[in-house]
Amino acid sequence: MTAIAETAQHIGVLTPETDKLKEECGVFGAYDFGGGSVAEDVYCGLLALQHRGQESCGIAVTDTAGPKGRVLSHKGMGLVHENFSREILDRLQGDIGVGHVRYSTAGSSVIENAQPLVLNYIKGTLALVHNGNLVNAPELRRELAHDGAIFQTSIDSELIAYQVARARVHTASVEAAVAKAMEKLKGAYSLVIMSPRKLIGARDPLGFRPLCIGKRGSAYVLASESCALDAVGAEFVRDVEPGEIVTISPRFGIRSDRSHCLRSGKTARCIFEYIYFGRADSELDRVSVYESRLHAGRCLAQDSPVEADLVAGVPESGNLAALGYSLESGIPYGQAFVKNSYIGRTFIQPQQSARESAVRVKLNALRGAVDGKRVILIDDSIVRGTTSDRIVRMLREAGAKEVHMRVSSPPFLYPCYFGTDIPESSQLIAHGRSTEEIRQIIGADSLAYLRLERLPELARGLHICDACFSNHYPIAPPTEDIRGEYDR
Ligand code: SF4
Repeated sequence: MTAIAETAQHIGVLTPETDKLKEECGVFGAYDFGGGSVAEDVYCGLLALQHRGQESCGIAVTDTAGPKGRVLSHKGMGLVHENFSREILDRLQGDIGVGHVRYSTAGSSVIENAQPLVLNYIKGTLALVHNGNLVNAPELRRELAHDGAIFQTSIDSELIAYQVARARVHTASVEAAVAKAMEKLKGAYSLVIMSPRKLIGARDPLGFRPLCIGKRGSAYVLASESCALDAVGAEFVRDVEPGEIVTISPRFGIRSDRSHCLRSGKTARCIFEYIYFGRADSELDRVSVYESRLHAGRCLAQDSPVEADLVAGVPESGNLAALGYSLESGIPYGQAFVKNSYIGRTFIQPQQSARESAVRVKLNALRGAVDGKRVILIDDSIVRGTTSDRIVRMLREAGAKEVHMRVSSPPFLYPCYFGTDIPESSQLIAHGRSTEEIRQIIGADSLAYLRLERLPELARGLHICDACFSNHYPIAPPTEDIRGEYDR
């Protein structure tokens, strides 16, 4: 936990859904070959990616017709709509732009760590946005520090920017510098980089985090998820392949370098993007998040059936799996809770029975829907198990006769090092406990998880990472804390 988060807890400010994992980050880039200003598109793209990070955000633009390498940028803590006004967007005039929404999985939640990172160096300017975590960040940081590097942030994105800038001194183009830099990077990264005349997208060879390309008229866009292409009216062109570097420029259109793509084709797309992180209207690597979640529900109905009167999801993320369960089982689908959509990211929780209230302010059971019924309740995951017992109790207090919990992911057993905040095993409720023991803790009549063997079906056979469930890490976990000494 960062110092800031710790302080927040002490003064009673908590994330309302305390048992939800945080998305890592969202990246967006745009280049209008027709010279049109792109700041507004980047802004709309970031609004569509807001679910991937709510701690900070930022936009940087450059004008290819203006002074070479002049970058205009604006960053702030909090949500996109809280940080950008009409005046700010009007000031950000440029035909290439990059944007970022952030949740800190490595590096503290402070404005210095907000992105885009803008770097002035011998060859001009670079603006970079990054989604993911490097497993060799401490090593790279030490190496650069010994070489005299001075860091302005504690995020590993700065290490990537440094590597690109260094490589650029000895390479013919910025895309060649990105390729050279990638030789040193280990871990998860989806990058969008703006140089004075080019927009570049790159994805790590295992493809942990998504990145796709869209087009609208004379403008190309790069985005973490396809829902952001829809938001700016761009047509989906294709996904950036794991290991691929795409360079977007008026001279060549989209130029691709696949020298880092793995010949084995063995990628490691994060399966949790489909289960929870991604937005339901996105397609990631051509697999619909919506279909994936429906399918998870169907699997649960096939593998863990139970007689009941109603299937409901823990809003919002459990709803689609609940619908899938209902379609497969024939048990009616309905709503069991009302969610207060007006609660922000954090709220000052009431003093008395604080944790209880934190959940109740956010969610309330619908007595009229559950009274006297046997309810199947679907959630996408149970992480620490800090809220499930209260949610089950709420249903019982609203009159539910039975509460059967079904979870549309396998039990979390191991931490993630690739850009999410899945904590150490000791903090995970499933670590060292049987399903029956967890059922007793949360007070449900029955409990079942999605079976591990079902996960590849959710990504329609793509090679996936499922390390937090299986302990099969596609890259060896780091041997030291990847938050780095600056954040401890
Ligand atoms: S460890 Fe889990 S959350 Fe992390 S990338 Fe792999 S599947 Fe995703």
